[in-house]
Amino acid sequence: MSNIPVKNVEPKTQSMYEKRKKIYVREIQGVFQKLRTWTLWALMLAYFGTAWLTWEGRQAVLFDLPARQFHVLGITFWPQDFMLLSWLLIISAFGLFTITNLAGRIWCGYTCPQSAWSFIFMWIEEKTEGSRNARIKLDNEPMSGTKLRKKALKHILWLFVAFWTGVTFVGYFTPIRELIPDFFQMAANHWAYIWIGIFTVLTYLNAGWMREQVCIYMCPYARFQSVMYDRDTLAVSYDYNRGEPRGKRSKKAADAEQQNTLGDCVDCSLCVQVCPTGIDIRDGMQYQCIGCALCVDACDSIMEKLNKPKGLVRYTTENELEGQKTHFFRPRLVGYAVVMLVMLTAFSYALMTRTGFRLDIERDRGALYQWTVNDTVTNSYTVKLMNMSQSDREYLLTLSAPEGITMDADEHQFLKVNELKEVLVTLEMDPEVANLKATKVDVEFVVSDPASGEEIEREETRFIAPRQ
Ligand code: SF4
Ligand code: SF4
Repeated sequence: MSNIPVKNVEPKTQSMYEKRKKIYVREIQGVFQKLRTWTLWALMLAYFGTAWLTWEGRQAVLFDLPARQFHVLGITFWPQDFMLLSWLLIISAFGLFTITNLAGRIWCGYTCPQSAWSFIFMWIEEKTEGSRNARIKLDNEPMSGTKLRKKALKHILWLFVAFWTGVTFVGYFTPIRELIPDFFQMAANHWAYIWIGIFTVLTYLNAGWMREQVCIYMCPYARFQSVMYDRDTLAVSYDYNRGEPRGKRSKKAADAEQQNTLGDCVDCSLCVQVCPTGIDIRDGMQYQCIGCALCVDACDSIMEKLNKPKGLVRYTTENELEGQKTHFFRPRLVGYAVVMLVMLTAFSYALMTRTGFRLDIERDRGALYQWTVNDTVTNSYTVKLMNMSQSDREYLLTLSAPEGITMDADEHQFLKVNELKEVLVTLEMDPEVANLKATKVDVEFVVSDPASGEEIEREETRFIAPRQ
């Protein structure tokens, strides 16, 4: 992934079919661990808490699939707003490109759901089974009452978090305050049980058992994020100039001379023990690195004990490591940021100028036209009116058409908030009055505000008549 040379380090070989080695992550305290803890707890709070927020008497975030309405903090999105969702995805993608080019995989280390849930599960593991050494010892012990109790407690807590994750997820699609009592009274929709089950199992497996395997083998971002890196991207790196040749320090006087030739790395392996993906950052940048900076905290704690400057492992750039200048403003970063900001501006404009109403016209496909007993010609339409505003409203439906064509429908239409109303409308042409030059005539349905007379929307369609 990187072209940073690592001096005096023999390349390691690894079998492609090597069995997974269980990683016993060691707990470490430090600046980045604190930052990570706060970020991940904040995200957890947002995920588990938002489902319980109420906004204007309704669940603040609710994706109501049967009604095809997505409510987000007082704004209702309809399937017709799908374009906005596409824009949002493109903005998110460019946001990710920008942040990756700037600071590597901080998304993975600090905000990715896989990291967040793994962090919670590891925290439970630490509380139930003890520190890294205690966990290694426990796993190597034969089964006993204590081991069974600790393991059982850990899995019960894992399953509870996984279950609550599933309930909360489904709670964004079914009002959560109704879902929970219905769930326990076995009165919820069968799909709710299926999805809660799927989410419980996936969360339990991904965060409890697979952990770093998801990041290394399943996440596509891990594979393509390197193309967004350049020599000025901030990434967690080992300062090989300062650290090599590495070596343990000996207290024997005879070794003193040799000790003085060593670099700052004392080869304590603490940076490897704290790494959630089990890699050695001293081997250079690797695609398995999620940029969590726990190895930075680990190495800083060692440097502090040795009275050496911190930062042997640190966030830095390839250019800086090689003694060159780091460029903050570079074409690629500016390009990503500009595209993101342009899209964001266009998205905000589209959101703010979105009309709270939609009009759709469908011609009756059964017959082009019909003669009536009064020798007039009629065409039938289904007029779909959608009140996408945040209140009940009355609309005035009128027709703009050549003389002799009239509309047979109630002009005053009252729609409740978020109501979709289908009105059957007949247009009637009196051949005595209308003097049509063609068999197909453009007509327009116009919807306006009855109080102010302001036009809200108009939609064109065709009136078809026999040749006169
Ligand atoms: S090498 Fe360091 S930054 Fe990368 S995943 Fe491991 S601990 Fe986190
Ligand atoms: S924690 Fe620092 S000193 Fe210890 S092995 Fe890692 S890089 Fe070397």
